[in-house]
Amino acid sequence: MRSIFYSILVFAIGSLQAADKLKVLIVDGQNNHKWDITTPVLKNALESSGAFTVDVSTTPPKGAPKEAWHAWKPVFSDYQVVMSNYNGEPWPQNVRDVFTKYVADGGGFVSIHAANNSFPDWKEYNDMIGVGGWGGRNEKSGPWLYVKDGKLFRDTTAGNGGAHGAQHEFVVEIQNPDHPITRGLPKRWLHAKDELYSKLRGPAENVDILSSSVSDLTAVNEPNNMVLGYQKGRVFHTTLGHADYSMLDRGFYTILQRGTEWAATGNVERTAAVPADFPTEAAVSVVKLEGYPKQEAPKPKKP
Ligand code: ZN
Repeated sequence: MRSIFYSILVFAIGSLQAADKLKVLIVDGQNNHKWDITTPVLKNALESSGAFTVDVSTTPPKGAPKEAWHAWKPVFSDYQVVMSNYNGEPWPQNVRDVFTKYVADGGGFVSIHAANNSFPDWKEYNDMIGVGGWGGRNEKSGPWLYVKDGKLFRDTTAGNGGAHGAQHEFVVEIQNPDHPITRGLPKRWLHAKDELYSKLRGPAENVDILSSSVSDLTAVNEPNNMVLGYQKGRVFHTTLGHADYSMLDRGFYTILQRGTEWAATGNVERTAAVPADFPTEAAVSVVKLEGYPKQEAPKPKKP
């Protein structure tokens, strides 16, 4: 009797905890990056916090027949947040419409690295991410957004959107320490080897730049973690995360967890604790994940 009672009790607590977790859907399937290697890292970053359950929806591959796309119908509204690790062919119009309505109605969205390269011609998507790179983006897409004298600056000079130099470790500096996502975090930390996205352009409305890094390409403070509002929805946009070794950074894990929780609820409560191994300005803190990293970081060129 007693063991049955305990089983029921344990089951009840387990169900309660599962029900209490925030539901995230990661979309991947096409990318000029190794999405099949990085999606499991994103999943681990979220689930290891204990705050999320994560499902993955993989689109048809590049060049797939129309029927394959017709069969791809993710139910975004089953989730509190959708995270994109996707950079590829346009989604079918019906999926785009459902997604736009999902965010407009209050759904959360998280854009990872090259997800901001996708959909240069989808107006609502660009309103959500604020700025993006490549895909033909230029001054017609909107201003180049960066931080100047501690303030958000919109540079309307003509030029292409999207650039980066060689991968390297760089310092991420918090620009807004009063946002729930950044509150209590060290002001500056050294981020693992990554691309430092620069010259991102877009409508750049309703953007709050949470953090930035100085680009050796442009010599300005380029935004790398941003939040945006899109009607009733909340968007967390990180330009970080080129490869698995870029994501396996305790600083990235922390801000991704907090950004995703904020996109889901508008607050950061479940993921507010600052990890003891959070990186410092002088040293990267690498997250240990079995079997990772699978990708090899490029070695610096010999002089
Ligand atoms: Zn990249």
